[in-house]
Amino acid sequence: MQEQILQAVQEKGAKTVGLQVPEGLKKEAGEWMQELEKNGIQVYTFISPCFGACDLCHEDAKELGCEVLIHVGHSDIGVETDIPVLYVEYQSELDISKITEKAGKEIKETIICLTTTLQHIKQLSKAKEILEEAGKEVVIAESGTRAKYPGQILGCDPGAALNQEAEAYLHIGTGNFHPLEIALATGKKVYVADPELGEVRIFEDEKDKFLRKRFAKIENSKEAKKIGILLSTKTGQNRKELAEKLKEMCKEHGKEAQILVTNHISPDNLLGYGFDAYVSTACPRIAIDDADNYDKPLLTPQELEVVLGIREWENYKLDRF
Ligand code: SF4
Repeated sequence: MQEQILQAVQEKGAKTVGLQVPEGLKKEAGEWMQELEKNGIQVYTFISPCFGACDLCHEDAKELGCEVLIHVGHSDIGVETDIPVLYVEYQSELDISKITEKAGKEIKETIICLTTTLQHIKQLSKAKEILEEAGKEVVIAESGTRAKYPGQILGCDPGAALNQEAEAYLHIGTGNFHPLEIALATGKKVYVADPELGEVRIFEDEKDKFLRKRFAKIENSKEAKKIGILLSTKTGQNRKELAEKLKEMCKEHGKEAQILVTNHISPDNLLGYGFDAYVSTACPRIAIDDADNYDKPLLTPQELEVVLGIREWENYKLDRF
């Protein structure tokens, strides 16, 4: 990846660059900095946490005189920037062949829609072949609004999983969020092939557990009088119009609501404001993955609609961009 970064910067002819690396790749960043400096390139490394290509520090980099921002780990999701951004995509070295073979034996259905995250995306066509050899009909669908590659899904964009023909889904990757978004968006069976754990499982119990938890949060929020609508200043997470719409919606349904603006949503930032519940208009993962860290309910926009009686619980959906 070091050579890839240097080559990309040299091709641009940049002499001063900003460098932004995600959590999992910080260790390597020191070597990349050294290599760039050795080649006469001035580097400013941004160390604030960064979880996606929605969070580009292009304005600060421009202020520092950077000609280019190197953003490592994520694919371009189409955020407009003040300076050019070099996206250095991260690909896992883990071979997904074995786990896909295992999945091919365990999947009962015939027409399968295949999804994964950026780190395995280059191996997706190989996974398709393996499943076809196992007798499956495999669909790799076009991505949605933000993901770059067919079959790629993001926490804010499950578009590649919205395939009508599929009888079931196979998601290759780790964690529960993506299987959850596929299961909720499609209502179909989701198999998960986890290359790190080496296991294939059906995503079912987790979905029920998740829905029970969210139902409780929604019920707890129905008596809330004051609601804080959280608006992110991150370029690719800023949904000002949505925040304003939700504020109006609250008022029309007898709730007091205020818009709270921050670059980083955290329990500490909310201390002392005295709201009864919060709604996040930022990254859809925040209200789901981090909810247990908050002492007041932290809801998605769609959950707020259920609280206000605008949406039926039966029509529960995850947030997406
Ligand atoms: S909004 Fe969230 S899921 Fe979407 S790219 Fe940013 S960090 Fe990833």
